[in-house]
Amino acid sequence: MKRALNASLQHLNSFSVAARAGQLLELESEQDLQVFMTEHDFDPERDLILGGGSNILFAGDVEGTVVLNHVHGKRIVADSENEVLVDVCGGENWHQLVLWSLQQGLSGIENLSLIPGLVGAAPMQNIGAYGVELADVIVSVQALELASGRRRSFGHDDCQFGYRDSRFKSVDAGRFLITRIRLRLQRIFTAELNYAGVGEELRAMGVKDPTAKQVSAAIVRLRRRKLPDPQVTGNAGSFFKNPVVDRAVAAQLAKDFEGLPVYATDHQAAKLSAAWMIEQCGWKGHRQGDAGVARQHALVLVNHGHASGQQILELADAIGDSVRSRYGIELQPEPRIVR
Ligand SMILES: Cc1cc2nc3c(=O)[nH]c(=O)nc-3n(C[C@H](O)[C@H](O)[C@H](O)COP(=O)(O)OP(=O)(O)OC[C@H]3O[C@@H](n4cnc5c(N)ncnc54)[C@H](O)[C@@H]3O)c2cc1C
Repeated sequence: MKRALNASLQHLNSFSVAARAGQLLELESEQDLQVFMTEHDFDPERDLILGGGSNILFAGDVEGTVVLNHVHGKRIVADSENEVLVDVCGGENWHQLVLWSLQQGLSGIENLSLIPGLVGAAPMQNIGAYGVELADVIVSVQALELASGRRRSFGHDDCQFGYRDSRFKSVDAGRFLITRIRLRLQRIFTAELNYAGVGEELRAMGVKDPTAKQVSAAIVRLRRRKLPDPQVTGNAGSFFKNPVVDRAVAAQLAKDFEGLPVYATDHQAAKLSAAWMIEQCGWKGHRQGDAGVARQHALVLVNHGHASGQQILELADAIGDSVRSRYGIELQPEPRIVR
């Protein structure tokens, strides 16, 4: 286990904002996890579990300990004619897992290509993209209860997955360290191409009847074009969730604001495009010092160089205020905010 005191977190968050941790612990093995659980009295008010830092905004320092879960490992645990169960440790890189699954001839997560971050964080907000979300393929989550050190196992339905949400992000926030997940992947590939842009991209690549690898390649191309690369310009992907409202409310807003994209989620609720509302309020490409809104995508807040987390948060608040006053809609941030 590696330890550092008064450690910088700037290179450990994709916004690249300056922040410090009282102590940084890097767990690299199952044994490290055990030692950590017996030695450390984790307090979620003071301490923090960190993965790849791609869904977090440090608007302040972490006084206590930041724990990096870098425990690696993945293996196929059951292999039938079509369905394959794969166990993956929380410290694995998500996109590398997608590439590995494709190399094994497995499909199911190709639409989630190039999402940054580590496997342990993927269930937190039920990562999703291009018409697929983790909840579609996850079987179970293994975790350590930080207060008691007990090992816990959560089946799919116990995880309370929702749109960019799960029990680990809501009712049980800060209670568990996710150590491993089990996925159900397929040998027989069924393409999920309904999401806008994927079919067009494949056509542009000259592909008619795509393989899972080709779908992954198309999504990588789309994402590289549409989203700023955090290695170049700090960001955490979408900063706001698409608001989910009552269908009647959505219908009235669509009437009042021509062009507002509304997506039905079930018979009672509908999702509104946060990006559209933010763009209509004039924020796309806006810059306030080094904090800004990406030119490519109105949902993505960026650090052009030396913005602090606080400055990015102030910009997010200003965006939230203008959307509220124009549409009466409350925007919710997607990343974890550390104050
Ligand atoms: C360019 C870009 C594009 C993105 N695109 C998408 C997208 O398409 N879809 C999407 O869903 N997300 C997207 N994201 C957000 C982000 O990549 C995902 O949410 C990812 O799962 C975060 O992983 P991480 O390891 O970086 O988590 P971190 O940012 O390190 O942590 C996020 C949260 O999870 C907690 N956490 C982390 N690891 C563990 C663990 N092992 N146990 C318990 N809690 C833990 C942290 O405490 C924190 O609350 C994007 C981000 C960027 C920068």
